[in-house]
Amino acid sequence: MNPFAKLDQQYVWHPFTQMRDWLHTEPIVITSGKGATLTDVHGHQYLDANASIWTNLHGHRHPQLNAAIIRQLKQISHSSALGLANEPASVLAEKLVAAAQVTPRQAVAGKRKKPALAAPDKLAKVFFSDNGSTALEVALKLAYEYTRRARGPITRPKFLSLTGAYHGDTIGAVSLGHIDLFHKSFGGMLFKTDQVMAPYCYRCPFNRAETQREDARKYRKCHWECTGLVAKKFTAQKRRGNPYAAFVYEPLMQGAAGMIPQPSGWLEQVTDLARAHGALLIADEVMTGFGRTGLTCHVTAEASAAAVADPANTNLFAATRTGIQPDFLCLAKGLTGGYLPMAATLTTQRVFDAFLGEYAEFKTFFHGHSFTGNQLGAAAGLASLDLLQSAASVRDRARLQQTLQQELKSLWTLPHVGDIRQVGLVAGVELVKNWQTRAPYALSERAGIRVCEAMARRGVLTRSIGSVIVLMPPYCTTDKEVKRMVGVLAEAIGEVLH
Ligand SMILES: *Cc1c(COP(=O)(O)O)cnc(C)c1O
Repeated sequence: MNPFAKLDQQYVWHPFTQMRDWLHTEPIVITSGKGATLTDVHGHQYLDANASIWTNLHGHRHPQLNAAIIRQLKQISHSSALGLANEPASVLAEKLVAAAQVTPRQAVAGKRKKPALAAPDKLAKVFFSDNGSTALEVALKLAYEYTRRARGPITRPKFLSLTGAYHGDTIGAVSLGHIDLFHKSFGGMLFKTDQVMAPYCYRCPFNRAETQREDARKYRKCHWECTGLVAKKFTAQKRRGNPYAAFVYEPLMQGAAGMIPQPSGWLEQVTDLARAHGALLIADEVMTGFGRTGLTCHVTAEASAAAVADPANTNLFAATRTGIQPDFLCLAKGLTGGYLPMAATLTTQRVFDAFLGEYAEFKTFFHGHSFTGNQLGAAAGLASLDLLQSAASVRDRARLQQTLQQELKSLWTLPHVGDIRQVGLVAGVELVKNWQTRAPYALSERAGIRVCEAMARRGVLTRSIGSVIVLMPPYCTTDKEVKRMVGVLAEAIGEVLH
């Protein structure tokens, strides 16, 4: 066995991993990466089909990102944000605020009958931390304290989030989540939040449509019972005399919940409801941020040259793309292009102002991390933003989105593929026992895990979420590489689930 594989098995405890299984087989030890390709100690090459757990945007060892980090390295790697400012973090904050500026949605969509509710304040301030969970943790604490100050300190602010939600693994973030498998065992440590039905069209009990060989959002038959439930939830909580302080959601697509995309119009309806009930909006764009949701709001056939010409396509967030302005925008994974751990929580001047006062009033936000505002991370973040806002990147993303859409169509011929859900540059393929009945695999059958293992043997790396296989290629992925990712997925399904 490779010496590093041996050391790993002797000493390292891996995240979300049954370590008994891990110790059975020699792990893949990665030594280098270039573009969408990873190379291991034996010289085997793999396509990075989930962008190194959804972090990588422009490919590995990108010359501009590497150069930016090296340039910063020659100045300084890290100095504290406690009592000190620095150049890259301050410039990155300015650029993030600019990139997250939302154009009012009626101007973008043009087809809304009534104007959006009370135009909220712009995002104006950035709180840096170092991972997605802490980005949510910061939003949570700020929203909690802001609400207590706005409504009077007696209330105990309550949060509403979606079924199946995943917002990270720290205690606050876990409290917002609703994946029983991950969260049940920690129940006693968590604070209570409410959940409301997410729009999982493919498995929605209100969807009366016969299964078709198409994204379930397109052929669903329902009366928007899901948003009706959201309305009920807000009304019931108001009746209890303590309206929800905040609604927490991933816009356009829930990631770790199983790549659950939202049907067109859902997000507008639920965020309008939240606003009408005075709840703050906390948008978790840790997965969806930095262009991942693609060049138009939903999957279209015509993402092409027109997409490059449209300045709206430098829109990097689901928030800017949909015109739905949150009060908190949580960012991490792709913030540095996936090179260094850094996160950011953007919020409004109004929230910021609630924490101003005389020193002795102790209105300070008592929260921080040792690596807040880290210079290396900020330098990488700036270089990544530059790349994202270039015409070349927009063109690459338009092409990738279209190729992915085109290639995924071939999977509909497989009887064990139940649903294919693409939003921009991310897709989930749900495996089922029988596409006509939608009969699911039990988790214990490890269908998703086994398919991913078969893909790895063919040189394509990704991870499943239950029975959903994730394809989230880095933006530099070529058409040929996308074809290989999808082709290998089809072969693996054939081998494992025949
Ligand atoms: C990954 C993820 C998180 C947590 O981020 P970490 O950096 O892993 O702590 C939170 N929210 C969403 C939507 C995520 O995908």
